[in-house]
Amino acid sequence: MKVLKGQAVVGGIGIGKAKFLKREKSISPPKIIKGEEAEQILRLERAIEKTRGELEELKQHIESTLGKEHALILDAQLLILQDRKLLEELTERIIKDLDSAERAIKALIEKYHGIFSQVEDYHLREKVHDIEDILRRIEKNLGETNLDENWAQSVVVAKSIFPSETAYIISRGRPEAFVLEFGGETYHAVILARAYGIPTVVGVENVEGKIREGEDLVVNGDEGVVIVSPTRIQISNYKALKQTLWEEKEKLKEILKEPNETLDGVPFSLLVNIEFPSEAEAIAKEGTDGVGLFRTEYLLLLGQRVPSEEEQLEIYTELSEKFRQITVRLFDLGAEKRIADLPFHEEENPAMGERGIRYLFSHKDLLYPQVRAILRASARRRNIKLMAPMITNLDEIKELLLVVEDAKGQLRMEGKPYDEKIKVGIMVEVPSIAMLVERAAKLVDFLSVGTNDLTQYIFAADRANERVSPLCNPLDPAFLKLLRFMIKKARDYKKEISVCGEMASRPLHAAVLLGLGLRDFSVSPAMLPIIKKVLSSVEENVMRRKINTALRLASGREIEKYLLREMEKIYPEIYRWIRRVCHEKNGKTLGV
Ligand code: PEP
Ligand code: MG
Repeated sequence: MKVLKGQAVVGGIGIGKAKFLKREKSISPPKIIKGEEAEQILRLERAIEKTRGELEELKQHIESTLGKEHALILDAQLLILQDRKLLEELTERIIKDLDSAERAIKALIEKYHGIFSQVEDYHLREKVHDIEDILRRIEKNLGETNLDENWAQSVVVAKSIFPSETAYIISRGRPEAFVLEFGGETYHAVILARAYGIPTVVGVENVEGKIREGEDLVVNGDEGVVIVSPTRIQISNYKALKQTLWEEKEKLKEILKEPNETLDGVPFSLLVNIEFPSEAEAIAKEGTDGVGLFRTEYLLLLGQRVPSEEEQLEIYTELSEKFRQITVRLFDLGAEKRIADLPFHEEENPAMGERGIRYLFSHKDLLYPQVRAILRASARRRNIKLMAPMITNLDEIKELLLVVEDAKGQLRMEGKPYDEKIKVGIMVEVPSIAMLVERAAKLVDFLSVGTNDLTQYIFAADRANERVSPLCNPLDPAFLKLLRFMIKKARDYKKEISVCGEMASRPLHAAVLLGLGLRDFSVSPAMLPIIKKVLSSVEENVMRRKINTALRLASGREIEKYLLREMEKIYPEIYRWIRRVCHEKNGKTLGV
């Protein structure tokens, strides 16, 4: 038995066998020598077979989560795979040109890419696009990866993991826990794990050297601890603790039926952040005011392709029918959220690169269909809002509004209905726009503060880098002052302002936001009950006074200590919940 320490980023207990994420890239050189052709063709055939299996399964998954209509596109792709000509063309390149299987595929992708850029007919373009998509999948399958295995009940162990891989793994069976070397509280893979309540520990140094495949693990996501090869007694104790925690959490859900009101009668709204439409059904049933942030880029990350306008229309419409209101955020692509299907430039510093709205403005073929789909979906219940990520300046807001007006004009000409009064808003997650919040508020209908990115840019610390991400402390007085300023300005202009970053999903932090004047919260689904419990058990006027005092303190750490002490005195029950869900993490993180 040994104990590994890391940072606790998603609470709870996970018990299972270690399963490593394998994603070895294929290592064939571009050219082969005579005599190696048969081996390359065999590899190619195997990769095609694997791709077929993957597509069949993806089709079933999409059918069961999104409905039959959405899976039609995969039928088209499966048909392409059956086309012997594709294999013949690739085989010919291997035999005649002595290309490796990878090189043959790359050459074919280039060929189709050339055709794609010349074709104007929409349907033909879609078809060429599908062929490219298939070729990329085959290329990926020439390398070794175990992503598509069943991950249920195992503990995923990896040095690092991409959000798209996390999404894929979860769709293949909910793992017990994640143990990672790389990552931070608001890294996207971690946000996903939190949304599904999967305990996660990051920052475990040399994780792949310290754990062996198949070893028994107990992951304590509350303490940031991983027990390797636990004793039988430890396993049974942790199983009992896991059951108790689960029962407590289930009981807590009762509170979702109560009105959204603080102890002193101040109303608030509590919405959720979602990544997959398939999450929606269960969440809607449990009780929420709606979706405050739909991270639509996950539609691309999971399917590894761009959904068409019609497909998006259906997804947004269905969601709008399940919830009282939904805020659809335009694709926030770039940085760690990329798909092979789309062109991205190599960037030295992707978090500060062409991401979010910047990418969309330079890829209008992606932007327009999405804006049109959101507008068209808004026609039915008029409960959809449109939101843009990563806005940096007022010019970008103006450009966004022009695109929306332009898309509305197109729809009018085509006789397609939309909500004329659809609300258009922005994420406030770049410091420059946070400083100009009152001028931004005049231009848009609402603001949503993305504390994950805003802290990363304010504190100049990569949110995904476990060595510096603890600096992104939302309780730091610098950040609290900025939040107070923004909330006040938005309220002065009578514009709705919410927080959808992970700060709102942390119990103590949510109470702090209430004290800073916030009334609209959008949180990770698994945290909904606890945040509701906290907000409805404290008094707004007490929190306001406590924050005023806290703001005079010098650091996030002091503020956190002070607030915890006060909570213990005034709201002991809530304090116990906070201690349970949020913990002193290893002395390494500064936040609760
Ligand atoms: C944020 O930055 O706080 C946010 C909600 O956006 P994302 O986490 O998707 O970058
Ligand atoms: Mg963001």
